[in-house]
Amino acid sequence: MSDQTGEDRYRLLLIEDNPAHARLVGEMLRGTPCEGSSITHAASLSKGLEELKLADFDLVLLDLGLPESRGMETFTRFYTAAPTQPVVVLTSLDDGQIALEAVKAGAEDFLPKDNMAGSLCRTIRHAIERSRLSNRLMEREQQLRTIFNRSLDGMVVIGSLGKVHFANPAATRMLGADGAGRLMFQIRQATNLEAPINLTFDPDEGPKILAEVRITGIPWDNKPHYLVSMRDITLRQRIEDNLRQSQKMEMIGTLTSGIAHDFNNILTAVSGLAQFMANSSKVDEEFKQDALSILGAVDRGNYMIRDLLRLSRPQDIQKVEVDLNALMRKTEGLIAATIRKTHQLHVVYAQQPCVVQAAPESLEQVVINLVMNARDATPQQGQLTIEIDSILKTEPFPAVKGDAPPGYYARIRICDKGTGMPPEVRDRIFEPFFTTKEPGKGTGLGMFIVYGIVEQHGGWIVCDSTPGEGTTFEIYLKREEPEAP
Ligand code: ADP
Ligand code: MG
Repeated sequence: MSDQTGEDRYRLLLIEDNPAHARLVGEMLRGTPCEGSSITHAASLSKGLEELKLADFDLVLLDLGLPESRGMETFTRFYTAAPTQPVVVLTSLDDGQIALEAVKAGAEDFLPKDNMAGSLCRTIRHAIERSRLSNRLMEREQQLRTIFNRSLDGMVVIGSLGKVHFANPAATRMLGADGAGRLMFQIRQATNLEAPINLTFDPDEGPKILAEVRITGIPWDNKPHYLVSMRDITLRQRIEDNLRQSQKMEMIGTLTSGIAHDFNNILTAVSGLAQFMANSSKVDEEFKQDALSILGAVDRGNYMIRDLLRLSRPQDIQKVEVDLNALMRKTEGLIAATIRKTHQLHVVYAQQPCVVQAAPESLEQVVINLVMNARDATPQQGQLTIEIDSILKTEPFPAVKGDAPPGYYARIRICDKGTGMPPEVRDRIFEPFFTTKEPGKGTGLGMFIVYGIVEQHGGWIVCDSTPGEGTTFEIYLKREEPEAP
């Protein structure tokens, strides 16, 4: 304990069987900076241990030669009973070896009993300061360990041969069985270690994790090692992807509807003039035929524009109660007529009427667009399946636009065993004018319109496609909770 004068007053416990020597210790401190320290005397080891239970002591001075035990045994018994108590052992001059052993085993220091006057105070002070310092270090290490262990970010120290020397629980959870190997592979590949990289890990439990990984070189046991920190960004990435996708669709939608409006005016002018030419008595028959061809092309243009404009004016769609079974029965004939010669159509109806609030022509348009795409992707004679059903989703489920909430849904499912789509195509199919078909065959508007219509209905699209195996599109539309029977 330091006081204002800079002198150190400590609470000392002296375990020593010789009363004369005990008195002497008090004398020796007189005139030193330790003067004024309190000295409690215990004449045996067991009494000393009892004193320790009654009060706190800054330091114990322990004579190794006591009636009940001698040498190292004294220290061992003391240390077993009070392992955290700072202690300096007092030895006889010829006990040098034992003194060293005691220090190795945990004593702060030793003093030769017959020659300690000059160094007693200094030894006491050093022993106490050293033990306080090591306590502070231990406490700090414990704090750091708690921080590491509680951190949501994974932290790993990995040697240059790939050995993991340290991993906090978050890292252990993320890495899974082969994670450390993958990290080492990345470290060896990296040209610039400082740049963060995104890596996917496959934990032993739970789904795959996308992590932002930062690697820094650090010394560990005097050898170069790598400190790797890993932040789970799975959720962040998904939210960003969803946001980007919906912003993109919104922007494209605005752009497209702007163009559609202007284009509509141009078409009206073209069609007016062509009409005029077709009816004019001043032009010959050949010109009239040309004018009629122009009108035909304008007509096709009008269809496209009409669909696009309908998307850009959601207030125009009139929703009514629609039973998807009934809607499908009506559409089936139309579709069958179009694909009958080349493909087989198989329709599975829902057991019960499947009623949603919807604009029937718009939904028809969705089904037709999806079926036409399925047909185009499927070799001749292949089968296309349309399925209607009601379904209760109890968990959120991943859809094109993001996670769809749980609830009661009506579902239209269109399934083909055609070409399927590679990921880079699937990522773009909802963009207007995106097509993989040859010029003249595709407009790239079908899926854009499907997306727009499903959006207008507050519904969700799920797309599952494997190249070479086929594609399934599912349209989910919110349905009233069914009444209890
Ligand atoms: P289009 O049919 O005019 O090409 P869409 O917007 O209808 O335009 O479709 C865009 C693209 O999406 C298609 O060109 C095709 O590459 C892909 N696609 C859509 N549906 C399927 C499907 N069922 N199987 C394979 N590819 C498909
Ligand atoms: Mg299409």
